[in-house]
Amino acid sequence: MSGRAQLMWDDAVTGYDFGDSHPMDPVRLALTMGLVRAFGLDRAVDVVAAKAAGESTLRLVHRSDYVAAVRAASADPGRADQNYGLGTVDDPAFAGMHEVSSLIAGQSVAAAEAVWRGQTGHAVNFSGGLHHAMPGSASGFCIYNDPALAIARLLELGAERVAYVDVDVHHGDGVQAAFWEDPRVLTVSLHEHPRTLFPQTGWPEETGAGAGEGGAVNVALPAGTGDAGWLRAFHAVVPELLADFRPQVLVTQHGADTHFEDPLAHLAVSLDAQRAVMAACHDLAHEYADEGRWVALGGGGYAVVDVVPRSWTHLVGIAAHAPVDPESVIPSSWRDEVYARTRQLGPARMTDGRTPSWKSWEEGYDPADRLDQAVLASRRAAFPLRGLLT
Ligand SMILES: [Zn+2]
Ligand SMILES: [Zn+2]
Repeated sequence: MSGRAQLMWDDAVTGYDFGDSHPMDPVRLALTMGLVRAFGLDRAVDVVAAKAAGESTLRLVHRSDYVAAVRAASADPGRADQNYGLGTVDDPAFAGMHEVSSLIAGQSVAAAEAVWRGQTGHAVNFSGGLHHAMPGSASGFCIYNDPALAIARLLELGAERVAYVDVDVHHGDGVQAAFWEDPRVLTVSLHEHPRTLFPQTGWPEETGAGAGEGGAVNVALPAGTGDAGWLRAFHAVVPELLADFRPQVLVTQHGADTHFEDPLAHLAVSLDAQRAVMAACHDLAHEYADEGRWVALGGGGYAVVDVVPRSWTHLVGIAAHAPVDPESVIPSSWRDEVYARTRQLGPARMTDGRTPSWKSWEEGYDPADRLDQAVLASRRAAFPLRGLLT
C-alpha cells in the first residue's frame, strides 16, 4: 500500500454553484485548495482527478427517474421538476448541474476504490460529503449523495462492513436512508438536535430497520454545544461502536458547519475541536479499520472564508501524515487570494486559539446535564441493539 494519501481534486468541482444568493459558495472549495497549496500539502499527497460517476454508479443509490430529472434540469434549468426537489430555494437548478454533481460523486467513488484496492491508505475529497441527497430527490444543497455512492461502491466491490461517521452539524439523513435496512453499513451521525435544525431528523430513536436494525446511530446535540460537549459526545459513542463493528473501511464526513461562526446552525465548536475530531477519526481508522482504510469527505460549511478552508486544510494534513501546526501563520499569498476573490480579510492563523479538552464518559455522567442526556438517549436507543452495554 502506498504511504501517500490521495487528495481528489478537479478544478471543475467549483462549478457546483447554486448562484450568488445561495450560501454554498464554491469559493470555499477554491480557497481550501489554495490553502492546501499554500502549505505545500499538495506535494505531500497524490492529487488525483477522477472521472465523473457514470449512470450505473449513480444508480447504486439513486432512482433512474431522479437521475433523468437531474439531467433534464441540467440541460434546461427552466424544466426543473420541484417534485424531485429541483428548482427549489435550497436546490436551484443550474446549467451543467448533472455533470458537476456527477464529477463530485466520481471523486468520492474513486477515493473509495483506491482505498479498497490498497492503492492508498487514506483518500480525501473535501468537495464531497453531500449527505442530504435522497435516492429519489435533491435535498439540502445536495444533488447526488457522494458518501452513499462511495459506500455502495465499496459494497459492490465486496465489502461486508463499512462504517460511516458524520460530524456535520446537520443530520446525515440521506446516507442513513440509503442503508437503513443494510446490516453491512453502520451509520453514525452527530448533529444539532432536529428540533432546532434542518432536516428535522436524526432522533436517537432512528436506529435502522429489518436486517439493518441497530445500524443507524444518532446523537442529537443541544443547540449551543461547544468544544468540550462535542468532543465528549464523540468519544462517548464513536470509538466503542467502531471497536465492536470492526469496519473494513471507515468513511467520515467533516462538514465544517459545527463552527461557532457558521451562519446556518447553532453549535459553538472551534476549529481546534474540529481538528481534534479529524485526528481522532484518523486514529480510529488505524485502530479498527482494515489496514487503516479511511475515506474522508467534506460537507457543509458556510463561513466560507474564515472557517472552511482552514478546517479542511487540517483534514488534508492529517490524512497526509503531515499535520499543519495550529500555531502556523497563514501564508500572505493565500490571504491575498482571499482578498482578491472576496474583498474580505482572511484569517491569520490555523487556530482559533483553543485547547479543547473533554471529560471521558467512563468517568460517569450527570443525568441532569443536557449534553449527557443526549448521549445517554443515543446509547440507550442503539447500543443494546448492537449487543453493547448502555
Ligand atoms: Zn451541514
Ligand atoms: Zn494514517
